[in-house]
Amino acid sequence: MAKLYFYYSAMNAGKTTTLLQSDYNYRERGMETLIFTPCIDTRVAPGKIASRIGLKADAISFDNHFDFFQYILDLKPTLPRLQCVLIDEAQFLNKTQVEQICRVVDDLNLPVLAYGLRSDFKGEPFEGSKYLLTWAENLVEIKTICHCGRKATMNQRVDAFGNPVKEGAQIEIGGNDRYVALCRNHFNQAFKQDR
Ligand SMILES: [Zn+2]
Repeated sequence: MAKLYFYYSAMNAGKTTTLLQSDYNYRERGMETLIFTPCIDTRVAPGKIASRIGLKADAISFDNHFDFFQYILDLKPTLPRLQCVLIDEAQFLNKTQVEQICRVVDDLNLPVLAYGLRSDFKGEPFEGSKYLLTWAENLVEIKTICHCGRKATMNQRVDAFGNPVKEGAQIEIGGNDRYVALCRNHFNQAFKQDR
C-alpha cells in the first residue's frame, strides 16, 4: 500500500535537494513522477524547481485553489508508469489540499512525498505542516544545525542587514539570505529581545 511521507526541517537544510535526489532515483529506474511547487515561489521560473546546489527539474505550479486529487486523477491515464508524487514547499498546502493528497495515496495508491518547513518565522506551525505531521504515515526529519551546534528546529526571518524580523506576513519567500535556521533556545532569545 502507498504511504504519505512528510520530510520536514528548518530552512536551508536541503529539502529540495533531497526531493530532487528521490525524483532522480525513481526516474533512473524508468518510473514516472510528478513534482509540484507553489506558484508563490519566485526564486525560480514558473514550472521549475531548483536546489541551492544546482539541481533542477520541471514542476507543476499550485496555488490555494489547486485540486491535487482531481489533477492527478485526470493525468494518471496518460502516465502509465507514474509511481510517485513529490511536493516541494508543502508547508504552503492548506488543509483541504492535504486531504486531497491523502486521497491520492489511499484511493489512487500512489506514494506522496511532501517536503516542508515545520514552523514559520514567529515559531507558529504552517497549516500544511500541521496536517502533514498529523496525517502522514512516515515522518522524516532532515536535520540541520544552529550556529551553536545544536539541532536547528526554528526559522528566523532577517532583514537586509541581518537583524531579526518579528512582524509581517507568514508567507514571504526567500532563500538563505532572508532566513536563518536556529535551535529553539537561540530563536527564542532573538525573538524576545526588545519585547
Ligand atoms: Zn543555537
